Amino acid sequence: MTKNIPELYGSMVFSDKVMKNKLPKDVYKSLRRTIQQGTHLDKDVANAVAVAMKEWAVENGATHFTHWFQPMTGITAEKHDSFISPVGDCEINMDFSGKELIKGEPDASSFPSGGLRATFEARGYTAWDPTSPAFIKDNTLYIPTAFCSYSGEALDKKTPLLRSMEVLNEEALKILHLFGNEEVSRVITTVGPEQEYFLVSKELFEKRRDLLFCGRTLIGAPAPKGQEMEDHYFGVLKPQIAEYMHDLDEELWKVGIPAKTEHNEVAPAQHELAPVFDTTNVAVDHNQLTMEIMKKVADRHGLVCLLHEKPFEGINGSGKHNNWSMTTNTGVNLLNPGKTPAENTQFLLFLTAVIQAVDEYADLMRISVATAGNDHRLGANEAPPAIVSIFLGEELTKVLESIENDTYFDNSNHHILMETGASVLPHFTKDNTDRNRTSPFAFTGNKFEFRMLGSSLSVSGPNIILNTAVAEVLSQYYEKLKHVPANELESAVHALLQEAISKHKRILFDGNGYTDEWVEEARQRGLANLRSTPEALPHILDKKNVDLFTKHKIFTEGEIHARYDILMETYSKSIHIEAKTMTDMITKDLLPALLSYMKDLSKTALQMNELCPDLALASQKEQLKKLSGLYDELFSLNSRLAADTVTAENMKDALSCANYYHETILADMEDLRRVADEAECRIPNTYLPYPTYDQLLFTL
Ligand code: ADP
Ligand code: MG
Repeated sequence: MTKNIPELYGSMVFSDKVMKNKLPKDVYKSLRRTIQQGTHLDKDVANAVAVAMKEWAVENGATHFTHWFQPMTGITAEKHDSFISPVGDCEINMDFSGKELIKGEPDASSFPSGGLRATFEARGYTAWDPTSPAFIKDNTLYIPTAFCSYSGEALDKKTPLLRSMEVLNEEALKILHLFGNEEVSRVITTVGPEQEYFLVSKELFEKRRDLLFCGRTLIGAPAPKGQEMEDHYFGVLKPQIAEYMHDLDEELWKVGIPAKTEHNEVAPAQHELAPVFDTTNVAVDHNQLTMEIMKKVADRHGLVCLLHEKPFEGINGSGKHNNWSMTTNTGVNLLNPGKTPAENTQFLLFLTAVIQAVDEYADLMRISVATAGNDHRLGANEAPPAIVSIFLGEELTKVLESIENDTYFDNSNHHILMETGASVLPHFTKDNTDRNRTSPFAFTGNKFEFRMLGSSLSVSGPNIILNTAVAEVLSQYYEKLKHVPANELESAVHALLQEAISKHKRILFDGNGYTDEWVEEARQRGLANLRSTPEALPHILDKKNVDLFTKHKIFTEGEIHARYDILMETYSKSIHIEAKTMTDMITKDLLPALLSYMKDLSKTALQMNELCPDLALASQKEQLKKLSGLYDELFSLNSRLAADTVTAENMKDALSCANYYHETILADMEDLRRVADEAECRIPNTYLPYPTYDQLLFTL
């Protein structure tokens, strides 16, 4: 049974094609203007769009609609309303108005707001984002929306993202117009997020409360085999996994998500999916949807999809690579080196702007990926280190050096000298730029790849920072260049680049980011090494960062404080849940298992003794002694964790509380785990009420 994929693709999306078909011409044109140019949406247009949207949705089986939004929980939220509207005796119409399309009023009181929304003013608003297409899922029309409070403060991850895209557009346009590119009227940022995940058996998953409540294992001795054979990465897909991936692709394609690449990852049971890149807000929406659909499809296959950053000790955790670039409405990728000197100058300016932005706001980049889960990866020699640096590759590094030092850039194939001091840049292929896998932020030919993101993270945060920081630097560049006569522009840009490179080259690093030498060198270079979430987060309140956000109207000061509170609290809460789950598993699963094994062991020994009184039973006694010792140790470490968790719970100050979780609770958990894992190794699997690493990772 072959499927018609081109027909299937986007069949559940209120796409441009559908709009063109369904909407009156003038309405369609007006909506396109809003989508492409960001112009204000007219009320009559909204009404006409609502009618067409409902008609299309009902034709495709929808009975309900929902405003779909992204509160600060990091996942999406929805509240369904049916289209029905009673019109007398047992009769209904299927109705949907422009007002319902544009604005929703969900109760905001139970979403994290960081104190922005007092409980007496519970109302929140959702507002349609027409630049991200509506779609149908589970017989419901999903309308992507932004979510804010009664007084207009952002309560979500989309509003600031849209603001940051707008700011970057404005600042990039100014530069492009300065370079004479008058035909460009819009610059968008593009994102392609590569998503890693684990698949485990649903039956086994349900037997482990740590996976159920925390998404990661809190105890568990390693399997005899890990990832040391390097046989899983790009390995042949097992039939069950292949079926899952094909099913997943189809579900994603239906809602217009261009799932493209799927393969096995480094760790056993680990996989990756990458879509073709898209406009940033669409890519963010799609990634949220992808994570949700991954879980849903897994369930159909008797599997569970784990998106946690560190589900298993001893093997790699999961991350997400955020590929990012800037593109004009005329189709030019601004991070594409181009073929002519003029294009090169412009490219070098945008490239340098990104370098400067990442250097000046490295702390914000780090903060944008700071979560309790991701702390297990960053700096653990499997993911980039917690120190932000940029990998450019040898050629581009040489180009920048030649600009800085006014030397001739000698690339054997290219000899045309341009005023910026670089000969025409070679065409960058991925081959000569993407060799360093330890770099947190790597130039990969025509885009940057930010690799510090955790697998469960919304990609919104990192892109808000990238867009805003780059916009800020571009605005500084524009101020320096705006009065320069056209015939002096080239040399003015040259001087500007020279200054920026010499000031910000400290962030460039092409070496191995996993070494201790780099940690030391980075310290000497003055680069921040924010190792944990509680260490990183407070820097969001640094003056330079507050200035950045408020200047570009991404966040008000109140919104920044709110986000800081939410992130800090979320960190403490996640570890709190882990600590409680761990205590619970030790008390109710592991200690009883240990005890019952000891009981059987001693019973057997007694019986043996009865039968043959002359047996020494030395090994049985030794075994019992060892197990009993482990039992005592487990019991006391478990009590310590429980007591410290109560202390943590009663701490008032959010930062001290987070620090306590980081320093004390996590250390308690680590100590406890070591003993638990040893105990697990010493008792037969049949005594354990939960599946082991062997079973979880190798039995699919
Ligand atoms: P990798 O070697 O890292 O797998 P790929 O070329 O496969 O590199 O690309 C990874 C991701 O980068 C894909 O999602 C791809 O669509 C995305 N990508 C490619 N070009 C751009 C761009 N200009 N902007 C944003 N993302 C891009
Ligand atoms: Mg990649």
